[in-house]
Amino acid sequence: MGARRGVVALSGGPGAPLRPRFPGPGSVTVRVPAKVNLHLSVGGVRKDGFHELVTVYQAVSLYDEVTVEAADRLSVSVVGDGSGEVPLDDENLAARAIVAAAALVGREPHLKVSIRKGIPVAGGMAGGSADAAAALVAADSLWGCSLDRTTLEGLAAGLGSDVAFLLVGGTALGTGRGEVISPVLAVGDYHWVLAVADFGLSTPAVYAEFDRLRAADGGPGEQIPPDGVLAAIRAGDVVALGMALSNDLQPAALSLRPQLARVIDAGRELGAVGGIVSGSGPTVALLARSSAESVRIASSLAGLGVCRTVRRATGAVTGARVVTGEAAPA
Ligand code: ATP
Repeated sequence: MGARRGVVALSGGPGAPLRPRFPGPGSVTVRVPAKVNLHLSVGGVRKDGFHELVTVYQAVSLYDEVTVEAADRLSVSVVGDGSGEVPLDDENLAARAIVAAAALVGREPHLKVSIRKGIPVAGGMAGGSADAAAALVAADSLWGCSLDRTTLEGLAAGLGSDVAFLLVGGTALGTGRGEVISPVLAVGDYHWVLAVADFGLSTPAVYAEFDRLRAADGGPGEQIPPDGVLAAIRAGDVVALGMALSNDLQPAALSLRPQLARVIDAGRELGAVGGIVSGSGPTVALLARSSAESVRIASSLAGLGVCRTVRRATGAVTGARVVTGEAAPA
């Protein structure tokens, strides 16, 4: 598959070739996971236009890889599923992360950024935010800055709601607009079947539909606390977690794409202990009782033809980590 390449500074000229699978000296590769929201409660609109959120994130084992190398200008290339939908200019969140980090440490943002997508694009799994988190970690490592966690989290918070979580990974509570992260106690592994749609959903469009439905419903109600989810993961109780999964954005995603309800129903009929639209969708996350069950549910779901593709993932996994010199995951 060929790489899409772009020169962020719009200075013209060809983009640099894609990195080799095992990067050489002078480059850093960071692997970064996707997220699902076990709980997503949406409050009122803040003065800055963002909604107040209370969410419980879990990082799951679908990964993007971001490689950075020194160059004479900032450029971005992307390969992998959905790469055609990813901007290659200064709208790319990895490029924005490099520019922000460079400004902070007083350097030129001149890096060749190569992204390998494994996280569905516009899927509600925070792929763009993941690439921003990975780019921060990669640039910090390549430049030898050793920025502390607070500084990295400050940069992350300026780039998007989910970026700070993807630096850390695991399972965590997110408040504010999602960028204020506190780790939570979680026991056990959770086995997910992810139904990836053949269309994307724009996060702003889903929030607009959420606002419309809420206004028609008489305005903001009380925000539901994540107590059920937190108790379930503290106990390592997969069935209780399946029952406690909740997402305030789900009605809006289903209103825009009613066919997603069929995917959730199909997953439950196949034995998933819970099913939910992931974030703003359209990916549907189905929770299986065990790894073996996730294999069974995934293969049955794939046979039904209700989604474009089915993936399996385990949570919780760690956030953005340097993997230079290690074999990249398949
Ligand atoms: P959100 O984090 O808002 O829930 P999402 O997970 O649904 O988003 P993403 O894969 O992050 O979806 O893509 C959302 C949009 O972000 C894409 O349509 C794309 O235009 C833009 N984008 C910018 N940079 C990237 C990137 N590095 N990878 C993927 N998308 C990106």
